[in-house]
Amino acid sequence: MSSPCIFCQIAADEAPHALVYKDDDCCAFMDIHPLGRGHVLVIPRRHVVQVTELEGTLQDRLFQVARRILKAQRQLGWGIQGTHILLNDGKAANQTVPHAHIHVIPRESRDGLKSMGRLLLHVTGLFGPRQKPAVLQQQAESLRHEMDRFQE
Ligand code: 5GP
Ligand code: ZN
Repeated sequence: MSSPCIFCQIAADEAPHALVYKDDDCCAFMDIHPLGRGHVLVIPRRHVVQVTELEGTLQDRLFQVARRILKAQRQLGWGIQGTHILLNDGKAANQTVPHAHIHVIPRESRDGLKSMGRLLLHVTGLFGPRQKPAVLQQQAESLRHEMDRFQE
């Protein structure tokens, strides 16, 4: 039977998503309610709620993948002016999906107001509008292409 956890379903390819990266331990995909252009989530494929439930090497691996994604985003011109690498670890820290994940969120100068509105919806758990699946697929494809150009 499929897991009730949406991120476990994505990791098992049982729920629709725009895949950016996958290996034996981690996967990365486009956030459905992006807080910036090209917002990606990096997750362990094994279900844990908080990142400290993972062994140290796997925690390091997640951040290594997040750094590769950051590099690929910048190659595409996203987040040149800045990026959030964000881990909401636990309910009190606004974690809404109880499967550990790292956000890699490109920002642009003067996108503050737009992002603040979305962030407010995000922390209340209401979220904003969903990005179109076709746009997410296109962004994921661009990121996969960039990531293929360099290994680490
Ligand atoms: P958190 O608030 O837990 O740090 O962030 C959870 C993130 O997961 C949010 O940015 C939200 O947009 C994203 N999210 C929630 N459900 C889905 C989903 O079904 N697919 C994708 N791709 N992202 C999701
Ligand atoms: Zn899970």
